[in-house]
Amino acid sequence: MTILEIKNLEKYYESFHALNNLSLSIPEKSIFGILGPNGSGKSTLMRILAGLIRSWKGGIFYKGKELNYKNTDILKNFGFMIESPTFYEYLTAYDNLSILSKLTKTSKKRIFEVLELVKLENRMDEKVKTFSYGMKQRLGIAQSLLHNPEVLILDEPNNGLDPPGIRDMDKLINFLNDEGKTILISTHILGEVESLCTDVSILRDGRLLKSLNMKQTQLDNNKFKIVTDDVEKAKLIFENHSDIRVIRIDTNSILIASKRATTVEKIFNIFNGKVILDSISRHSNLLDYFYD
Ligand code: ADP
Ligand code: MG
Repeated sequence: MTILEIKNLEKYYESFHALNNLSLSIPEKSIFGILGPNGSGKSTLMRILAGLIRSWKGGIFYKGKELNYKNTDILKNFGFMIESPTFYEYLTAYDNLSILSKLTKTSKKRIFEVLELVKLENRMDEKVKTFSYGMKQRLGIAQSLLHNPEVLILDEPNNGLDPPGIRDMDKLINFLNDEGKTILISTHILGEVESLCTDVSILRDGRLLKSLNMKQTQLDNNKFKIVTDDVEKAKLIFENHSDIRVIRIDTNSILIASKRATTVEKIFNIFNGKVILDSISRHSNLLDYFYD
């Protein structure tokens, strides 16, 4: 079921066309990636969904109900973290959440709940200025969860995090998804989509290039990249193999597609020691859309 439907969304900044006829269907309980390079319109989309940008055209529907200036109630179902969140640095994590909790009229109990969700319950009495960047990002997510929204909208939450920070963030996003939240997450990093998302839409210059379900994409993925100094010999071997099609040849590598589902090991065995290989790896289907 679609929880959030975006239809023919258009956004201009003066004469600059930032979102161009963008349509997306976000399935309920998905981890939906918005993948695109800088300037492709990810933050613009998220700001519109968060109600931070008011002038746009098109339709946004939450469970079939349309969002418009008369009906902003829908926004209550969204929690968002747009870019890096800011806090009162000299107040504790708890006090920061408490201020927001009073504004949004959520219970005190919920503050403890969200701190536990993001694993900051043991640090809640410390001042935010002593927090690492990753902890601040997690506190930002705690903030977005206070009113227990069904949809979480996270604009590049991994930006600026170190690898352990990214792992914690991915774990948290997976956990919240298991708890039933639909998560819309933007990123410019392909690998993040592949490791985290169930669905992805690829944006470029404010337009939708492609929407894909990751499970299907992985099932369909029978492309491999072989890195070797002896590209010519590798090419000959593949050309004599009926199940394999050579897609592209570069100086040190060769890209192939197998007609049947196969494994890296089976591709390796085709060589039977006849060519010295540096590596064989599965080639991401997404890459083709991303860098076309
Ligand atoms: P992303 O988040 O994918 O990097 P943005 O949505 O931030 O992309 O920006 C998309 C395009 O819109 C960029 O070219 C950016 O320069 C432009 N843009 C964003 N915000 C504004 C604004 N407030 N005024 C004018 N142009 C803007
Ligand atoms: Mg952005």
